[in-house]
Amino acid sequence: MWDKLESEARAVLHPRKVSDLVEAGGVAAAILTDRGNIYTGICIDIACSLGMCAERNAAANMLTHGESVISKVVCIDRDGKYLPPCGACREFLMALDRRNAETEFLFNHGQVVKLKELLPDWWGWKYCPERYPTGGEMQTPAV
Ligand SMILES: [Zn+2]
Repeated sequence: MWDKLESEARAVLHPRKVSDLVEAGGVAAAILTDRGNIYTGICIDIACSLGMCAERNAAANMLTHGESVISKVVCIDRDGKYLPPCGACREFLMALDRRNAETEFLFNHGQVVKLKELLPDWWGWKYCPERYPTGGEMQTPAV
């Protein structure tokens, strides 16, 4: 499945200048959901530092189609190297659904890392009553 996700990401990886102020497509991501669907996205960079990462763009595409649980993510740059998600993407994907703690990312050298490993002591666990019925302490639960 990793090969399929990489292929889907490569299919939308097209670095280009959209306007004098916007570049896009230098990074691409593909998301596999728990329902087996794949959604892709590209990075969008605006001169004023607004923009969107490829992972969040793919996640927005997924949300548009009514899904929020992610099994696997591949993100590649223009050199074909795998990229780990930035802090904002980690938070965004985790906040979408707590089951995304188990989301796997493929890194270089075939390393597979789960989102929960990228977000130790995640602040949002405090708001998960099934894990912390009394409001809980900030700690990493056994997922
Ligand atoms: Zn990001």
